[in-house]
Amino acid sequence: MKNPKPATITFFLAIVISIAAAMTHFFLERHGQHALFLFVLIFLLSYFFIYNSLQIFIYRKIKLIYKSIHNLKLGRDTGFSEHLGDDPVADVENEVADWGVMKKREIDELRRMEQFRKEFLANVSHELKTPLFSLQGYVSTLLDGALEDPNVNRVFLEKSAKNLDRLCTLVEDLNEISQLERGDIALALETFDINKLVREVFEGAEVKANNRNITLSIKKGTDTAFNVLADRERIRQVLTNLIVNSIKYGKESGETTVGFYDMDENILIEISDNGIGIEEEHLPRLFERFYRIDKSRSRDVGGTGLGLAIVKHIIEAHKQTINVRSTPGIGSTFGFTLLKSKDR
Ligand code: ADP
Repeated sequence: MKNPKPATITFFLAIVISIAAAMTHFFLERHGQHALFLFVLIFLLSYFFIYNSLQIFIYRKIKLIYKSIHNLKLGRDTGFSEHLGDDPVADVENEVADWGVMKKREIDELRRMEQFRKEFLANVSHELKTPLFSLQGYVSTLLDGALEDPNVNRVFLEKSAKNLDRLCTLVEDLNEISQLERGDIALALETFDINKLVREVFEGAEVKANNRNITLSIKKGTDTAFNVLADRERIRQVLTNLIVNSIKYGKESGETTVGFYDMDENILIEISDNGIGIEEEHLPRLFERFYRIDKSRSRDVGGTGLGLAIVKHIIEAHKQTINVRSTPGIGSTFGFTLLKSKDR
């Protein structure tokens, strides 16, 4: 019998004891009625005695285990109920099962975070190593004599400067992401026109866009003021990252269009390009730190692989959402929402 209850165990023990007593009596006295009476009496007495002893014993022991598990689960003095139900074994079984599931989840999460930390560290050191080693190479070549060679000295210095810029951008992005992840940044919410901010970002990105002959424009029919309540400088950074990406991964002589859509409580802002696009399989991981589809292309165009992770953090800090849809060879659209401002 699997998992017998205390009552069942008691019943069988009481039967055995009372049969033994009744039979002994019968053999000694040869009196059937007395033996039957003794059987019933001993059965009732032993049932009562064994059942209560078992209950007290099990209850005390189990209660101790229950209490320790409860304390482990919730921390001390946090709402432990002194009362166990009618079936203490089942209660403890449930507690242990719950506890096991909870611990497994915690362990999985810790493992995931450990893996994340390892990968992050490996990525950071790799990203730092590449420009640092190049810089070291150019500087030592210059010192070894190239400085006096007018054919290469300027080129090497320019390459050194480019690598230094890369290092600075990387350190700035790392600093930014670590602050965002620590939740250190308080948002400075204000009402502003998102259309006007997009135009400012267009102006800042003009040189980059001209270099690739890409036109930056606001989608027809949506070119009016849209007041939102958000942190203007952080949203400037979001727009800059998305618009600069649309130029970096856009088609030469292509176009980047920004559209605004009124969605009741929110304004949806969409940045579309007609560039290389993104394969479906990459879309779910695109916003992870250092996730890049084509690492060498990203580095060539000055990417750190942190831009979209920063963007996602900022939008989530605003309790809003960001999404992407894309077709390889046709282009990509990144869309995010912001709270519409109630001030007009
Ligand atoms: P990066 O610094 O490499 O640009 P991001 O986090 O900004 O890093 O972007 C991550 C990756 O997503 C890029 O390396 C690129 O492969 C892809 N990506 C981002 N924006 C676009 C886009 N508009 N079109 C195609 N691919 C894009």
